[in-house]
Amino acid sequence: MKTIGLIGGMSWESSIEYYRIINETVRDKLGGLHSAKSVMVSVDFAEIETLQHAGAWDELTARMIDAARQVQAGGGDFVVICTNTMHKMADDVAAAIDIPLLHIADATAARIKARGLGAISLLGTRFTMEEDFYKGRLVNNHGLNVLIPDESERADVHRIIYDELVVGEILPESKARYVEIMQHLAARGAQGVILGCTEIGLLVGQDDIDIPVFDTTLIHAQVAVDYALGDYDI
Ligand code: GLU
Repeated sequence: MKTIGLIGGMSWESSIEYYRIINETVRDKLGGLHSAKSVMVSVDFAEIETLQHAGAWDELTARMIDAARQVQAGGGDFVVICTNTMHKMADDVAAAIDIPLLHIADATAARIKARGLGAISLLGTRFTMEEDFYKGRLVNNHGLNVLIPDESERADVHRIIYDELVVGEILPESKARYVEIMQHLAARGAQGVILGCTEIGLLVGQDDIDIPVFDTTLIHAQVAVDYALGDYDI
């Protein structure tokens, strides 16, 4: 079994989900007392969030490279960045280390294509929904057609992530707003929805909408185990 190298803390509310899912998946696959071999480098999200909203992406890239090198030095056989947004610098991180990086969008796209879907909607931070580092990868590398929410919907999706979900606040009115937005995306032709922020699965899930839901936290964690056990290729 390979040792899974996690970069967490963005936020820790979702990092604990990664840790739980990874260990449950190993237990389900191997049985008995088996659990995952892993190391985690966890950052202070207050610093990360401040730098994100200040647009200090060079500094953030340096910090992610630093974290990835710590993961490598700590014995990780590959790197799992436990957030969608911080895949903005995934290529720079991958180039700075000697171990592979398991990209969250690639793992998710593989699941979407396995279901035979072509038109997919994307919920996440503004960075993830609006910039090309994530959407562009789904379109150009995986041939998917990606729909994002309207401007006012994107504002709410982003605000609820940073004001509530990353501090563990789960509010019924925010859940209702997310469901409304997902329904609107389905009405616009989305055949499925990517929960493209690792905390969104704490708020909504497959029970809330009739199109298939792709929870990036669940998928990334499960695929990390597949790779650790030799059942997935990067
Ligand atoms: N965890 C979130 C994501 O998956 C947002 C936190 C962050 O900005 O890293 O994008």
